Amino acid sequence: MGLDITWKDASPGYEEQRVGRIFNKHRPDRFPAGILKASSIEDVVAGVALAKQKGLKLTVRSGGHSWPAWSLRDGALLIDLENLRELSLDDMTNIVTVSPSSTGRMINVDYLRERGRCFPGGHCPSVAVGGFLLQGGQGWNCRGWKWACEYIESMDVVVARHGQVEVVTASETVNSDLFWAARGAGLGFFGVVVRFRLKTIPLPKIMAKSILIFDASEYQETFEWFQQACLSFDFDVELVYLGLSRFRCLPESKGKPEDPLLVISATVWKEDQAEAEKALAVLQQCPKLEKALLNVPYAPTSFAEEYDLQERDNPPECRFFCNNAWIRGTPKEVADSLRRGFVELPTKDSYTLYYSQGPLRKLPDMAFDIQTEHYFATYLMSTDTTGGEDQLCRDWLAETFAAIDSKRGGPGGSPGQYLGDSDLKTRPAKFMSDEHWTKWKRIREKWDPERLFFGYGVHEKGEENRHLWELESRAKL
Ligand SMILES: Cc1cc2nc3c(=O)[nH]c(=O)nc-3n(C[C@H](O)[C@H](O)[C@H](O)COP(=O)(O)OP(=O)(O)OC[C@H]3O[C@@H](n4cnc5c(N)ncnc54)[C@H](O)[C@@H]3O)c2cc1C
Repeated sequence: MGLDITWKDASPGYEEQRVGRIFNKHRPDRFPAGILKASSIEDVVAGVALAKQKGLKLTVRSGGHSWPAWSLRDGALLIDLENLRELSLDDMTNIVTVSPSSTGRMINVDYLRERGRCFPGGHCPSVAVGGFLLQGGQGWNCRGWKWACEYIESMDVVVARHGQVEVVTASETVNSDLFWAARGAGLGFFGVVVRFRLKTIPLPKIMAKSILIFDASEYQETFEWFQQACLSFDFDVELVYLGLSRFRCLPESKGKPEDPLLVISATVWKEDQAEAEKALAVLQQCPKLEKALLNVPYAPTSFAEEYDLQERDNPPECRFFCNNAWIRGTPKEVADSLRRGFVELPTKDSYTLYYSQGPLRKLPDMAFDIQTEHYFATYLMSTDTTGGEDQLCRDWLAETFAAIDSKRGGPGGSPGQYLGDSDLKTRPAKFMSDEHWTKWKRIREKWDPERLFFGYGVHEKGEENRHLWELESRAKL
């Protein structure tokens, strides 16, 4: 059987193959030379060899959920892994073997649930583990259960070097430099991962949540308190502070649908209900409790229910504009810096999020190494399919992040970003320390000496791991 490749300008159905699996309806004008639908590891090996032979660069797509659609690069051979399928659990080791296009829902709900295990995949059910794990993976309860890439036991990767294409295994002990790079390099990874072996954890008996909703006028006090309170929750609790419109979270309440409201959400995993109730009770100490528009102290939930809600809140028919920043500072400095991000949303569908990583844990030695206690991310959404709200969203992002970046990494500013919610093209910012950047380049030289993979070269300034303000001051010299 020949390879299933759709070539640009030569095959019918090219446009559907190019963007049909891209989640974000705000799609870039970038056109791969061809799209290979791989159904086996042999197809991937043959595809990499073909790219070498034709002098094409390579890109990979597992689930198509990269917000800026980095699987699409001009002139590349795109290897799409949708049809490469594998999912099995080893009952002795509790290691689950998955293909990169497996999604959180497939792994947790359709497969592991009945086996009494789970894995901290992405919050949206349709996020595939391929791109998610390579960038770090801020999955369920990342604060307590660690970054999802810390669950990779080993992986199989198709690499091209020394004139040969081969499948190698990478783990802490085998090809450990490749393994180091895979845990955080994201779109800059220089191989095709075709299989992950992942640790799983026992599925807790209880999953429950608590929610408080406030008017935007309560921002400063509730947000400063929440940042402090996060430090006293135990590590089985995921903690989020959201800015979203009344239309999205309390549609029945009085007021304009576009009014921004503030949602404090805590989700807990425990072995019994009494422990879960106790863990969530911290929210009831909020000094502004009597001002809450809604107070749900305890509500049972499940992965299946939460995936459904995430799917509803991130509708696939929308145009998305995303960005993010790790923030440093005292609760007041953080709240002052992010005020606009929570109380002035550009469209009624948009939402913004603060995710507590505090108290911060030490990371293992891997490419991913920039984080703070405070994660801020923006998910601007437009249902206007003509693009009529695009500029509004772009301007809002530019102004909001320019204010953060004006602090140049100082108090209330950002020392870096998370690749998962980034758009390096519109806002360059560091995603690794300088030391890790140097190490990543050295490892790439070994594993991809011919630079078959695209890497981070996404804007006119070339391949950079720098903040915008550093690039701008260098340009002035
Ligand atoms: C609705 C939605 C919800 C999300 N929720 C979360 C969340 O909760 N937590 C979080 O951390 N992130 C989240 N994200 C971000 C998401 O994890 C990243 O965009 C991730 O890249 C998606 O993985 P993918 O395989 O679908 O991406 P793709 O678009 O398929 O790939 C993105 C890039 O990753 C690389 N890549 C992908 N697969 C491989 C492979 N097998 N081998 C080598 N390189 C590969 C390629 O460079 C590719 O261009 C979300 C995104 C969306 C759209």
